[in-house]
Formats: sequence, C-alpha cells, structure tokens
Amino acid sequence: MQKRPKAVALLSGGLDSILAIKLIQQQGIEVTALSFVTPFFGSKHAQNAARQLKVPLIVKDITKEHFPLVKNPKFGYGKTMNPCIDCHSLMMKIAGDMMKKSGFDFIVTGEVLGERPMSQNRKSLEVVAQHCGYAKYILRPLSAKLLTPTEPEIQGLVDRNRLLDIQGRSRKIQIALAKDFGVVGYPNPAGGCLLTDEGFSRKLKDLLRHRKNPHVRELELLKIGRHFRLNKNVKLIVGRNEKENKRLRQLRLSKDAMLFLENIPGPTAVLLGPKSARTYLKLAAEICAAYSDTKEDEQYPVVVQDENKRYCFPVKVNRKSRSLYPTI
Ligand code: SF4
Repeated sequence: MQKRPKAVALLSGGLDSILAIKLIQQQGIEVTALSFVTPFFGSKHAQNAARQLKVPLIVKDITKEHFPLVKNPKFGYGKTMNPCIDCHSLMMKIAGDMMKKSGFDFIVTGEVLGERPMSQNRKSLEVVAQHCGYAKYILRPLSAKLLTPTEPEIQGLVDRNRLLDIQGRSRKIQIALAKDFGVVGYPNPAGGCLLTDEGFSRKLKDLLRHRKNPHVRELELLKIGRHFRLNKNVKLIVGRNEKENKRLRQLRLSKDAMLFLENIPGPTAVLLGPKSARTYLKLAAEICAAYSDTKEDEQYPVVVQDENKRYCFPVKVNRKSRSLYPTI
C-alpha cells in the first residue's frame, strides 16, 4: 500500500496559510502545522487556526536565531524594521530541517505571488527558497501553477492541477475560498508582526542605536508606554493606562527607579539606565507628575522606589515638561 504523504506547513494563522493547508488536506495529505514565536510575534492566531483545521501544531520559539536577523538583515528591511526575506528564509530553513529529521515529504506555505511588494514577488520567493536550502521542497499551493513545479508535484505526491494560480494583492479569491471551505474568524492580514508597526519600529531602532545586545526584557518594554530618550544611556518609560502600568511594574528590575503619585490617577514611570541615570530623577518625576491627574503649578510628592529605598520627590507640575524631550 502506498504511504500517505506528509507535509509540514508554516501556519501564521492568517487566511493564506489556512487556505494553503486546506488545499493540501483536500488531496488526502497529512499536515502538521508549524508556528513560530519571538518577542515580535506570537502563535495565538496559529493556535486558533490549527484547532479549526484539526491539525497538530508545533510552536517553536526562534528568538535566538531571529533577533540577529532583525539587527542585521542580509536582505534588508521592508518599510519599517521588518526583515521579511531573512525572516522567511529562517522559517523555511527550520521547517526544512524538521522535514528532514521527522520524515515529512515537503513544506507548505501560504505565500501568494505578488501579494506583498517586498517579500512575495517572484524574485523574493526564489531568494527565500534558495537561501534556506530546501528550494525544491517548498510548495506554495495558492500560487503553485504560476511557479516552477516542486519535488512533491514532480513525484506525484501532490496533484498540481488541483493547486491554484492566485497572484496580486486583491484578496477576493481568498475570501471566496474561505467561504467555500467554511473558514471563519481569521485575522486581519495587516496584524500580527510588530516589526511592521511604525511606532514600534521607531522604538526598536532607537534601542538598537543605543544598545548593541538588548535583553528580551528590553524588547518587551518597547511594547508599552511612552518612551523618552533622556540621553544615550538613559530612557524613561511612562505607562499610558492601568494595564501598561501593571506590565511596567512586572518588567521593572529592582535596579530601575520606579516613579508614581500616590492616590492620584496617573502613570507608573520607570527610569532605565546605569546608576548615573539618577541625575535624571527630578526630570522623570516632573514628567510623571505632568502626565498625572494633577493641577498645573501645584506641588505634589512623586514617590520614587529605588532598589530598597522609597522616598518622595516634591515637584511642581509643569505640563511643558512633557515636551522637553520628544517621545520616541
Ligand atoms: S512580517 Fe514579521 S513575521 Fe512576517 S516575515 Fe516579515 S518580519 Fe517575519
């Protein structure tokens, strides 16, 4: 009896990756999904999609391999800090290594020719395929008929005639297919990766300019608050709501001075930097008071929690201090 082919499929949880798996499942092929996490993207959508597709999902944390590419991408960035070609190549390489090790026959991805100007044009798809070392085994079911036949098609594991020839940025065909397949609740195509977010990318760029090897905690901090660059080694982060205040308190280390106003609604602020950053405490307290529910020109005690010490810093509220240092 002929063995049932097995594929490992990259699953972001977006519609294209879901449809790619559906098309492959339709041909009786057994699919295992693979999803990745880093501080810049997670696997929540992939987990929802895997449940809907009824496929096993492997989630891999690739921060260690991925972050060097974010800092120094061989193929450059997209519009923001997104190194999509390097990132895709890494994901394909990991999928390819898994294919080899675990006996899968080929790799499936939801890429669509021409859907994204930088990372999904014909040249980029070829670069990714060549660079990862598994070019012949990467099947892109949504655009396969427009691409060179891959090994699983040549070997007859997949019927090329039942694959598609979608190209371009319009998602009309995919939306119609989702309806046919009964796929519901898929996320918006733009969401998912913080590296494509302008505000986040600005903060990341600033961090990398000042810190060669930032810790994951510093990347997590980029996701919350207003960030003020006070000097090349000193940064102040000010929470914008209660959820961010709470997260800031969780991520703060005891060596970071924390500031807030007692019994007055307002932010928690954290001053990051070396010991010498303490020279910025007064300014940090002024900014913290200026973002709190305080009255202009009145004096308030700002609480400073610094290592094991706790003391109050009296400051006069001056809203202009908010704009003395521009937010990143
Ligand atoms: S959008 Fe983000 S996750 Fe997707 S390929 Fe680009 S860098 Fe990687």
